[in-house]
Amino acid sequence: MTESTEFSDQKQIFGHPQGLFYLFFAELWERFSFYGMRALLTLYMIDVIFQALAERDYATAAVYSSYGSLVYASTVIGGKLSDKILGMRNSIFLGGILMSIGHFVLAIENNMAFFLALSLIIVGNGFFKPNISTFVGTLYEKGDPKKDSGFTIFYMGINIGGWVAPLLCGWLAATYGWHYGFGLAGIGMLTGLIVFWRGIQNNVFGDRGLPPNEHVLEKKVLGVKQGILVPVLAVLSAPLIALLLSSYKAIATDGMFADQNIVNVIFTGIGIAVLAYLAYEMFKANVKERKELFVAVLLTFFMTIFWGFHELSGSVITLFAARNIDLEGIMSAAQTNSLNSMFIIILAIPISMMWTWLSKKNWNPRTPYKFGLGLLFAGISFYVLAISGGSANENGFVPFTYLLLMYFLLSVGELFMSPVGLSKMTDLAPARLIAFIMGVWFLSSAFAFQIVGFIGKQLAIESTDGDVSGFATLTVYTDGFMLIAKYALGAGAIVLLASPIIKKLMGKVY
Ligand code: GLN
Repeated sequence: MTESTEFSDQKQIFGHPQGLFYLFFAELWERFSFYGMRALLTLYMIDVIFQALAERDYATAAVYSSYGSLVYASTVIGGKLSDKILGMRNSIFLGGILMSIGHFVLAIENNMAFFLALSLIIVGNGFFKPNISTFVGTLYEKGDPKKDSGFTIFYMGINIGGWVAPLLCGWLAATYGWHYGFGLAGIGMLTGLIVFWRGIQNNVFGDRGLPPNEHVLEKKVLGVKQGILVPVLAVLSAPLIALLLSSYKAIATDGMFADQNIVNVIFTGIGIAVLAYLAYEMFKANVKERKELFVAVLLTFFMTIFWGFHELSGSVITLFAARNIDLEGIMSAAQTNSLNSMFIIILAIPISMMWTWLSKKNWNPRTPYKFGLGLLFAGISFYVLAISGGSANENGFVPFTYLLLMYFLLSVGELFMSPVGLSKMTDLAPARLIAFIMGVWFLSSAFAFQIVGFIGKQLAIESTDGDVSGFATLTVYTDGFMLIAKYALGAGAIVLLASPIIKKLMGKVY
């Protein structure tokens, strides 16, 4: 990656480099498309794609899980190709274009088109997401105290997109049809690309984000220039991924389902390979590095558990909202996907101010304690949903306030973990491994979707007569939420108990 050494001549807006605001709006629109589509995805699969199957919930959980796992795992490859060949600018354009096409293909009503569209979004996100985040980092000098608040502003952009999109796309889908909702997501992505392109036109990025050197795009591999080969291979990989996604097959034996899903097998393989590689690196490292690497892996593991429950919002919790929450006159089930982002927008600044205030008093809890507390918040949030069944009306629908409180608590937990962990990774990884450890951090979201799939399948409701809701589904969900609450609370308690030791291993890293 070509990095500009010029920091001081960047034009400033609100005390931050002007480029931050172009990246903010580009990412806002990209996340608009991502979360607008995600809000519709589960319901669309249940109501349209797998509508004819009795085990439609099960099939939906399997495909949703594979999609989520691959959409985050692809960022590891996208980050690497950007570092070595394309540079961040080209990667962001390539990713954005693939994602827009994906969203527009979703507007075609056809099962093959559906899987191809998801694959284009998977490949596109792999190029877009890691690179736009790294781009933010390059705007600040190493150690600049403004960098953290720059990332907080950026996190707000993500969540403005995540808040508005489900509301608009959910409304369009319910009023005019699914494909208008997906179409709007595509327009959002194109808007993001235009914003980024305007930033380049206005020269706000200096020479940041260019390929690593002048010749790398021209260099030929197998007789083809790398600058052409990478986008061509990216496009060609989409049908292959579509095949993987659609390879799901439910096998019913004695009323129980199991599935043959290659994506699960691939992820088990990736998990083993990453752990083996990390073990090798730890073996090679000196004692201090070994301790720090161990903590980085541990934090990533805790984050995986948290995302595994948190990312249920687009699957089981959306279904619970559709089938068991009294949303009459409030919002649609798809629109409930906006609640997490709404609370992040409300809480991000107060919580970061709280850390600063606590630091001044020397009371700022160290990272492992924040992680333990984050998991406890997740546990309490699921406990709230678990006990909501007690307030169900005569039709088996529970008041909306339970969902609202649940998302409030889950969002507090997220802010205790996600932004904190992101910045700790850069402190804990030895310089030679930073990119790799960042990739591992993104893999925590990828593996989380394997947990989401597992839970989604456990809570799948089989039905042969169309829609199910009310008391037919209520206890399946609330019993499931109670179990999740217990696991999350247990995990939080274990992390808190282990915190004094983890704290010691972290040494000076706060
Ligand atoms: N909500 C955040 C985003 O979209 C993080 C999601 C995740 O990593 N699972 O960037």
